[in-house]
Order: sequence, then structure tokens, then C-alpha cells
Amino acid sequence: MAINFNKAEFILSAAASKQFVRDGLKQMAFAGRSNVGKSSVINRLVGRKNFARVGASPGKTTQINYFKIDNRLYLVDLPGYGYAKVSKAERDRWGRLMEDYFQSSQLIDLGVLIVDARHKPTADDVTMCNWFKSSGCPMIVVANKLDKLKQSEIEPNLQCIRETLALGEQDALVPFSAERGDGKEQLLGLLRAFYEQ
Ligand code: GDP
Repeated sequence: MAINFNKAEFILSAAASKQFVRDGLKQMAFAGRSNVGKSSVINRLVGRKNFARVGASPGKTTQINYFKIDNRLYLVDLPGYGYAKVSKAERDRWGRLMEDYFQSSQLIDLGVLIVDARHKPTADDVTMCNWFKSSGCPMIVVANKLDKLKQSEIEPNLQCIRETLALGEQDALVPFSAERGDGKEQLLGLLRAFYEQ
């Protein structure tokens, strides 16, 4: 049966590598700059308004949240990056946690990078994208906040995202609006296909 994303439950928050989940279920890791709408995208995918917290405040940015989907896979919510008001100590904590996460072998089966459809990806987006690439997992890029674009801006912006992140032909780029729901079925289709591989 197709995986049911509406069956989602919070499992735990990990602040250190000993808490990382390693139980053999596939893991899809979601990453994105703070405020890009990562929580909103996750909420849209699981069909619940207040599932992943929207509008994360600083101080909560150094935890990895694990959600189990349909008892069959994990949606792993990586802490957002690039939040201007975060202290150096917290940025360092974030860096260590991400290093531990990306260096732990076989944790990530699929990377989902969320970027802002309106803008050229930031240097931090490029770094995160390269971390996913170097981990060797397949990757999906989600261009969120599509509702903020004029129709004529969509294609050039997607092209700019493809070029800046140096995506290959095989890398999926999904135009998305967490607010309106655009792209939901396409992204769910890709996630389900990945699970069934
Ligand atoms: P996170 O920090 O990446 O988890 O971002 P949030 O999900 O908390 O969203 C940050 C802000 O962007 C909130 O005010 C959301 O309402 C808004 N937002 C998220 N997705 C969209 C979208 O697709 N379109 C628009 N217009 N706003 C969005």
C-alpha cells in the first residue's frame, strides 16, 4: 500500500549523535534556511497545521527532530541555518551537530533541501546542498513560496536555482507553495517512489 503521510508522529529531538535514530528504517532528511518555510512544507505534507512548529525561535535551532511516517520511514527535520540573530555559541553547536550527522554513515537515505523560490540560493544553501551530494544520497530540491512569484518569474527562477546548486538532470526540483498547496502531490509522489525503491 502507498505510504500514508497523514499518519505522522513525533518520535524525539536529538541534540547529540548518541540520540540519532539507527533502527534500519529509511530516513528522509529535510534541510533549509530558517524562515524558508520548512515547518510549513512538512505540515503541508502530513496534512496538519501545527505538526512541525512554524516560526521556530532561536534557542531551538540545534535539535534534529524525528517524525515517523506510517510506521515505515522517518522524516528527519534538520535544524534551520542562517538565522541572523543566533549567537556564535549556538552556530558552533549547530555546526558540530550537522558534522556529526553527515559523518555518521548510512543515516541519510534521501535529502530534501528547501530553498526560497524567489531568490538565488544563498552560500549556506549551496553548502548544505554539497553536504547532501557528498553523502551520496539522492536529493530533491523544493522551491517554496511559489505563490509569491509572478508567472513570468517562475521558469527563470527555477533555472537560477538549478544553476546555483549545480543540479544534475536526475536531481528533482519541485516548485512548491506550502501556503497554497502547489507541488504537494508531485513531492509526495517522489517521496513515495523513493520509499518503494
Ligand atoms: P521555517 O523556519 O523554515 O520552519 O519556516 P516556517 O514554516 O516557520 O515559515 C516561515 C514563514 O514563512 C511563516 O511566516 C510562514 O507562514 C511563511 N511561509 C511558509 N511557507 C510559505 C509559502 O509557501 N508561501 C508564503 N507566502 N509564505 C510561506
